[in-house]
Amino acid sequence: MTAVHEADTRIDEGAALDFDAIVIGAGLSGMYQLYRLRELGLRVRVLETGTGVGGTWYWNRYPGARFDSESYSYGFSFSQELLDEWDWSEHFSGQPEIERYCNLVADKFDLRRDIQFSTRVTSAHFDEDRGAWAVTLGDGTLYHARFMVTAIGLLSAPTMPRFEGVEDFQGQWSHTGLWPKEGIDFAGKRVAVIGTGASGVQAIQEISKTAEHLTVFQRRPNWCTPLHNRPIPKEEMDEIRAGYPELFKLCRETAACFIHTIDPRGTFEVTEEEREAFWEDRYAGQGFGIWQGNFRDMLSDREANRLISEFVADKIRQRVKDPKVAEMLIPKDHGFGTRRVPQETHYYEAYNRPNVKLVSMLEEPIERITEAGVQTSAQDYEFDVIIYATGFDAVTGSFDRIDIRGTGGQRLKDKWAGGPKTFVGVMVDGFPNMFMIMGPHAALGNNPRSIEFNVEWIRDLIGHMTERNINVTDARPESVAGWNAFVHEKAEGLLSNEIDSWMTGINMNVEGKQTRTIVRYSGTAPEYRAKCDEVAKSGYQGLKFT
Ligand code: NAP
Repeated sequence: MTAVHEADTRIDEGAALDFDAIVIGAGLSGMYQLYRLRELGLRVRVLETGTGVGGTWYWNRYPGARFDSESYSYGFSFSQELLDEWDWSEHFSGQPEIERYCNLVADKFDLRRDIQFSTRVTSAHFDEDRGAWAVTLGDGTLYHARFMVTAIGLLSAPTMPRFEGVEDFQGQWSHTGLWPKEGIDFAGKRVAVIGTGASGVQAIQEISKTAEHLTVFQRRPNWCTPLHNRPIPKEEMDEIRAGYPELFKLCRETAACFIHTIDPRGTFEVTEEEREAFWEDRYAGQGFGIWQGNFRDMLSDREANRLISEFVADKIRQRVKDPKVAEMLIPKDHGFGTRRVPQETHYYEAYNRPNVKLVSMLEEPIERITEAGVQTSAQDYEFDVIIYATGFDAVTGSFDRIDIRGTGGQRLKDKWAGGPKTFVGVMVDGFPNMFMIMGPHAALGNNPRSIEFNVEWIRDLIGHMTERNINVTDARPESVAGWNAFVHEKAEGLLSNEIDSWMTGINMNVEGKQTRTIVRYSGTAPEYRAKCDEVAKSGYQGLKFT
């Protein structure tokens, strides 16, 4: 298939538009896209709901929020000056430091002058006559821009449980993903945390230290493994800095862009003693090593997965003093690593504290929230504070919140009703000139590595168009079908796709998200990038240009 360049069919002069490009979101994706689009000389406006930059790291300011990727593997790699200037203080830095880093990026590259804060995008309609996006804001303002880049995150639409009475509660309450800037003081308070995903785990281990009493309401437990965080002294930071080229090269080579590499051996290709020693080593090691650096068959071979699950279950039994509580904390409905593994620091030990109680919602479901606290099937609990660590309408949820319509007025939400379909995770047929960073079916993992790649790919495509005076590009339906088939092929045989989680499109709190869908690309990042590079090298075959 050959790209069609029909520059003479241009339908609008750029100058009549408000901007050349609108970028939605000023997290890492949006900031970097702005930086790269400026290089093309484009007039760019970034629209951001928050009052500051950082996206995920702006909103998720709950106590204990921190990286699960090694800090130095997470920061931007594109600027040597930035790498030279910034020291990470911990192997897994906390939210306040990460937010400071985001602010430094915004200041250093003078990004703020093109970011409009406190601005929510309510709708974005493709205006076919003008070949441009008509973007409407919460206050009614209407902007037109040739290109629209969504940098809206894949875990950024917080969801509350559908309990009755949430608004009746007379104490203080918050969702982890919408944490108040002034913080919440837990000292001397009776606190409830509902939800035990990665956010809940981080919050629980921290809040347990200061609350007078903490009750954790857990529905399905997750497999959590130790983070093994530690400070980075100056000399170590200098060594890390000297090794940045190798570190980022490694991230380019690993399956999910982490510094951890899947072990090429199969679980049963080593002796039992070797296996145990390997797992002990991984459990004692930092970060996602035990998840992303385990035997190659851990997530595809049921028996291999059962064995590693037993290994981690035993660790939980060793760490939690009350055997009944330990059993409550051990997942029975899914194997290790088939859902996102929360990283913890003395999480399990929190349940040994006298001020912490675990309530299993499988045995004692919450019936409603009351003025005083929580009513379960067994009793009434009184609280001063309730924390909802109940997760996000993931991957497509942040798109669903905006009324996005493409050619012929078709809604993106309708188009994706049976599950998202994209071309390389960046484009959707019928939604011309819309580009997604970290969209459905793009490579995930250690996200900034993928963000940098996606942003540069989008910059190159827009550059290709502007150089040739091409106004509009769209993905061909057959390209989308091809990518969708590839994504589905890559998902085959993976145990994680048999499990309910945000990674399989499930959110029981959101209407219509109760059926498992392939929302994630589960091939490797190097393979993803190679495919995208091929598209660019071919002169963007797979796209239509008009
Ligand atoms: P999550 O993993 O979706 O966990 C939500 C929790 O709330 C689950 O325990 C869920 O129980 C529970 N829940 C939801 N609705 C409920 C209801 N109606 N009744 C009872 N329980 C309910 O969300 P998350 O913890 O915010 O994490 C989401 C993702 O964000 C993570 O997987 C990770 O990718 C990312 N994250 C990253 C970091 C980091 O990198 N440092 C930190 C935090 C989060 P069920 O399991 O039974 O549904």
